[in-house]
Amino acid sequence: MVAGATAIEARNVVKTFGSGSEAFNALDNVSVTIRQNEFFTLLGPSGCGKTTLLRMIAGFELPTSGEIMLDGQPVAHLPPFKRQVNTVFQSYALFPHLTVAQNIAFGLEMLRRSKSEIDAQVDKMLKLVQMEPMRNRRVNQISGGQQQRVALARALAPHPKVLLLDEPLSALDLKLRKGMQIELKRLQMETGITFIFVTHDQEEALTMSDRIAVMSKGKILQIGTPTDIYERPSDRFVADFIGETNFTQAEVLERRGDEGRLRLCSGVEIVQQINSHAGIGDKVTLAIRPERIELAPQDETCQFAGTVQNVVYFGTDTTYHLDIQGGGQMTVRLQNRWGHQSVLQAGDDVGLRVAPEAMQVLKD
Ligand code: ATP
Repeated sequence: MVAGATAIEARNVVKTFGSGSEAFNALDNVSVTIRQNEFFTLLGPSGCGKTTLLRMIAGFELPTSGEIMLDGQPVAHLPPFKRQVNTVFQSYALFPHLTVAQNIAFGLEMLRRSKSEIDAQVDKMLKLVQMEPMRNRRVNQISGGQQQRVALARALAPHPKVLLLDEPLSALDLKLRKGMQIELKRLQMETGITFIFVTHDQEEALTMSDRIAVMSKGKILQIGTPTDIYERPSDRFVADFIGETNFTQAEVLERRGDEGRLRLCSGVEIVQQINSHAGIGDKVTLAIRPERIELAPQDETCQFAGTVQNVVYFGTDTTYHLDIQGGGQMTVRLQNRWGHQSVLQAGDDVGLRVAPEAMQVLKD
């Protein structure tokens, strides 16, 4: 297996549910390439089409148009059990009357593997998910987190090429969930299996994934590494959905290729990379993360000036809400150091300093 080769490709996939005036595109011309050995996450709000895309890769649904390819081959004709793809569902779908070991063996028995092979693989899987001491317990006698691990072990046991995980951690409490996030990442790295993970939790996506596809209303808006998506969101939805963002408008004064000279609402001029078609005189929107802004005395090194409206202490950091001269509001988040106390208070005038690479011109 060549690392980085294509595992799955969706080409111009459309999925329409209903017909006539009721017709509705759950997926609207989706194209994505997922590489072998990748931890790939589909991230988006409820109803954006994540599960529909996953079900199509698994073979539970067929595209209305477009194509799904596994290992470079179209798979429309292949039923789910003939694809080397396994799914871990939100509900785990374990057999309550069977033991942990019997649940893990189930898929291997369906594939008619020999008894010695099944025994060896079950042992290996129990070790991998650290459930050896519980091998003979029935699954209704173990905790939710343990059931989650058994579900994973069962799906991993036949060593599928691809594992699909549909919000598998959503039933767990926060602490267990954090633990399982680390565990899942470890399992993926140890097995080298391509994981496609579905979640609406942006933090989960950022911490676990090699790459993320952000979806909204049946479309993929951006595909990139967690850093790409967080630091360089391409449009307003992505910037807003992932983390907190300040939006501010600027006017294009000059445009040369990908670069443009912009006038901020403060009147300050900056030179920025622009990926849209915005021309001279057009307004563009800039996204700025609250933690990428420095507060400073107002001077010519500042891009903005503002007045503190309120100060909120959060323990690890302090958040300042400011009214910005020239228009709008901004949030600034500064990390608290030991013994630090905010000297700023409501009503104070301050300057805001932002490095050019922390200002992202959005497509819209
Ligand atoms: P969630 O996070 O809530 O699971 P999702 O992003 O996985 O959401 P999907 O389950 O893919 O979203 O659904 C996408 C859209 O398609 C939704 O509006 C849903 O109501 C609709 N949909 C899904 N399955 C069907 C179906 N069988 N018939 C009609 N509409 C459907």
